[in-house]
Amino acid sequence: MKQSRMRKFLKSASLAILLSLATIVSAQTLRPDSEKQLARDIYKQFIEIPSGFTTGSTTPVAEAAAARLKAAGFPDSDIFLGGAIPKKANLVVRYHGTGKRKPILLLAHIDVVEAKREDWSIDPFQLLEKDGYFYGRGTGDDKAQAAIWVANLIQYKKEGFVPDRDIIVALTADEEGGGPFNGVDWLIKNRRELIDAEFCLNEGGWGEIINGKYVANYLQVSEKYVLNFRLEVRNKGGHSSLPVKDNAIYHLAGALTRLADFDFPLKTNEVTTAYFRRMGGISTGPEKQDLLKVADGSQEAMVRVAALAPAFNAVLRTTCVATQLEGGHALNALPQLAAANVNCRVIPEDSPQYVEDTLKKVFADDQVSFKSSGDFGRGPSSPLRPDVLDAATRITSKMWPGVTVVPNMVMGATDGRSLRIAGIPTYGIQGIFIDRDDVRFHGRDERIYVKSFYEGQAFLYDLVKILSKPAN
Ligand SMILES: [Zn+2]
Repeated sequence: MKQSRMRKFLKSASLAILLSLATIVSAQTLRPDSEKQLARDIYKQFIEIPSGFTTGSTTPVAEAAAARLKAAGFPDSDIFLGGAIPKKANLVVRYHGTGKRKPILLLAHIDVVEAKREDWSIDPFQLLEKDGYFYGRGTGDDKAQAAIWVANLIQYKKEGFVPDRDIIVALTADEEGGGPFNGVDWLIKNRRELIDAEFCLNEGGWGEIINGKYVANYLQVSEKYVLNFRLEVRNKGGHSSLPVKDNAIYHLAGALTRLADFDFPLKTNEVTTAYFRRMGGISTGPEKQDLLKVADGSQEAMVRVAALAPAFNAVLRTTCVATQLEGGHALNALPQLAAANVNCRVIPEDSPQYVEDTLKKVFADDQVSFKSSGDFGRGPSSPLRPDVLDAATRITSKMWPGVTVVPNMVMGATDGRSLRIAGIPTYGIQGIFIDRDDVRFHGRDERIYVKSFYEGQAFLYDLVKILSKPAN
């Protein structure tokens, strides 16, 4: 996932309120040692294959997973290896159920952000267990989940578990940076039948630890989408010793100043309503009542909460902000061109046309031409499925008493967007808890807690079983 933006969002969201900190009862909820060992072995193998987005290959990771599955008795006919190019293979494996319900898809990407040995204090492509952490590129993003999916699937088979739906695991290429070899896009376009599912579980939701305490287990349900607009004012220009009021820079500056004073309307949707209700529930600060009132739709409370933190503001409305500026061609000439980029983060309910029409009114200057550039990438929210939310809540209460499952809409993007656009609702959930103040995804000496890895294994083991168990 494009972590940095999401991290910033969460950090300020969490800072904005005082959370009641849950006490963790040391639970006997991890998987047995043999299963933990298998998950760790697969994890180590995945980490130690350099599958950097630009320099690496995902194919050896996909092949390693396939070999393990075959050794565990999965038939060749249920295992697919392939992708956009030979270096960027994906793995898809199907564990058959009774077929009573549509399959569930378990997704993880197996490419990683580049990591240079000289930038790290340790070898990024060796799994190192030290001081309670697993170190290595991809330990958090996203090879933990990839290894856990495979280990758990092997365990289900070993047990003879018969789900009432097929369980599909897809380990895919090139989430980091996307591009033409992105495995999810490729599978949707070329082998949709392999991954077609009622819904998907993916990265994008994690657990949050603040000051050593487990606080919230996030369930990512939707994402904002991005629109960029290039604004241009062209003018015939002239000598700067003979200025006129009709100046390209002044026109642009005026439009941008009006944008600075403008805010899109505050509103909530199904996901953010649930988010504020639960954040209100765990808050003990003075904003508690306002968070709950936001969930009830109070405009006055939304105004106050949006003012509390940029992260709350970003959850409550579409935002557009000037990010780049250019103009003029000489110190002593009237500008012939003034241009700017405006970057918008749009809530799923707002259409590109609505944003464009609104901006036109805000700029209120016919000389300012503007058009959107770049990828729209608008995706719908996933519906807030009660079965997913209930199962996640039940397991969370069992494993970490007092911790709340918080559905959220994030500012970043994952492969979930492509799946949602393709009609497969996708939920980011991992049960892997990360220290809010020690997020190293994409960065140097990436690490997660050893304990979090095994907790994630146990959490996801139960979650998938509950979601695919025949009703009785
Ligand atoms: Zn990721």
